[in-house]
Amino acid sequence: MDHITLRHKTYTNIWSLGDVMNAPNAKTAAAARMQAPIVAENLVADLEGKTPSAQYNGYGSCPLTVERGKIVLAEFGYGGTLLPSFPTWLLDGTKPTRAAWILKEQILPPVYWWAMLRGKEWMIKPEKVSAS
Ligand SMILES: Cc1cc2nc3c(=O)[nH]c(=O)nc-3n(C[C@H](O)[C@H](O)[C@H](O)COP(=O)(O)OP(=O)(O)OC[C@H]3O[C@@H](n4cnc5c(N)ncnc54)[C@H](O)[C@@H]3O)c2cc1C
Repeated sequence: MDHITLRHKTYTNIWSLGDVMNAPNAKTAAAARMQAPIVAENLVADLEGKTPSAQYNGYGSCPLTVERGKIVLAEFGYGGTLLPSFPTWLLDGTKPTRAAWILKEQILPPVYWWAMLRGKEWMIKPEKVSAS
């Protein structure tokens, strides 16, 4: 599996995402959510005879409950690079915060059920493979 395009290295008509794939990312639903539009975009490009250009940076998110009322929202990519979704003043992902608890407990469930699982996505835009 190419960890950037999420395409099989030998069998190029195979693409992968989610817990089942072998990229060295944290296996989370947050990662699968990030990977889905990347695979979709690359698959369509391939079917149209174009070079797949959407890339995955290893993003994953682990809400670590460290005490009642506080969570560390760890968001990181390949190599442990921090990839925060929010500015630090709103939610510091390196510390236990009440904001992360509220996000996980009250905000994310309706996002999962009413948006994500219905295919609605407005925060994630696949990055393009940088020319090297
Ligand atoms: C306790 C726990 C807490 C978690 N908390 C979080 C969290 O807070 N945030 C987060 O982002 N992630 C969290 N995760 C991780 C998240 O649940 C997974 O990363 C995510 O569900 C992976 O999605 P998936 O679709 O790749 O795989 P799965 O959700 O595992 O889906 C695979 C599906 O395939 C089915 N299946 C298996 N074999 C076959 C077969 N032969 N034929 C047909 N169907 C088959 C399975 O029954 C399953 O329904 C948590 C995981 C656990 C266990």
